Amino acid sequence: MDKKIVDEYNRLKDDLNRWGREYYVEDQPSVDDSEYDKSMNRLLELEQEYPELISEDSPSQNVGGRILEGFEKYNHKKPMMSLGDIFSFEEFMKFNSQVEKVTGTFDNEYYAELKIDGLSIALIYEDGKLVTGATRGDGKVGENVTENVKMIKTVPLTIKEKGHVEVRGEVYMPLEEFKKINDKRLLNGEEPFANPRNAAAGTLRQLDSKIVAERKLSTFIYYYLGNDKNVDTQAKAIQHLTDLGFNVNPDGRLCHSIDDIKDYIAEYSEQRSKLGYDIDGIVLKYNDFDMYDKIGHTAKVPKWAIAYKFPAEVKETELLDIYGSV
Ligand code: NAD
Repeated sequence: MDKKIVDEYNRLKDDLNRWGREYYVEDQPSVDDSEYDKSMNRLLELEQEYPELISEDSPSQNVGGRILEGFEKYNHKKPMMSLGDIFSFEEFMKFNSQVEKVTGTFDNEYYAELKIDGLSIALIYEDGKLVTGATRGDGKVGENVTENVKMIKTVPLTIKEKGHVEVRGEVYMPLEEFKKINDKRLLNGEEPFANPRNAAAGTLRQLDSKIVAERKLSTFIYYYLGNDKNVDTQAKAIQHLTDLGFNVNPDGRLCHSIDDIKDYIAEYSEQRSKLGYDIDGIVLKYNDFDMYDKIGHTAKVPKWAIAYKFPAEVKETELLDIYGSV
């Protein structure tokens, strides 16, 4: 194979693995997400063209995070996956045509949700009592952050469902709180957090729970892995999570057609800067759970859901809104 290709591939792999460590482990990214995404796309392109290049340490083969020292490990019973990315409606049409091959339907029902820019959390309940809170980590093994999640006001310590119940969602920092904390850090001569996502991740992985209690993190829960057999669609899961007392994002919507999805994307591309928390896209989830096994997944991402990412420049405008100038 052309040495130039091998060199380019190795450089991309090294960069992405380093940036991944900075982002997931140290909570201190040195490049912005669009640069990471651009390099990742190029790496995936090369891997598609030259599959012989793919090695175990490629960032395409595993979900990013590693475990911070100081926390106990938690083995996820079911892997916590990432999501595939798309950047245009045309790419969504391609994604949908793969789903159509399995379902036989063009106008598939998807549940559309905002893609909250925080970090994944799993909450585990035994007989109605919160017993564990864990980060995603590498998808198989996460950090046990139970004492810290107990400090988040929107996390119920008890729920009215017996047996083993796991729910998953996002821990995030509201923009107002982010601004308050960064103002204080600047006053104290400390380095400000790069963005609300890093502030949330850095806070949830504090060894001192008191600091977590002081900084007002919040949650949006969107996955239900419980015992209620009536919950057989994402729309019903969201309703059930609401009934159990979880904080659920109010802007999710069941889309019955491709046109509905187009409208949802247009609406929230517009609404994005008015939400009070950061989102970096929209997640489209096939609504009917019965098809999940048939549609399947890769090692890293499900094929029944996709993340439609917003362009990066909108995000810069948002930072300008907060600080006046950057
Ligand atoms: P991701 O953040 O692109 O998407 C998957 C995650 O979305 C899930 O794990 C979940 O936590 C979250 N999510 C938010 N709302 C959701 C909802 N409603 N339903 C389901 N999931 C929802 O994937 P990732 O693997 O966590 O991270 C990859 C992305 O992180 C990259 O595309 C890049 O933008 C960024 N990144 C940046 C750097 C950097 O150096 N700047 C480094 C690594 C990763």
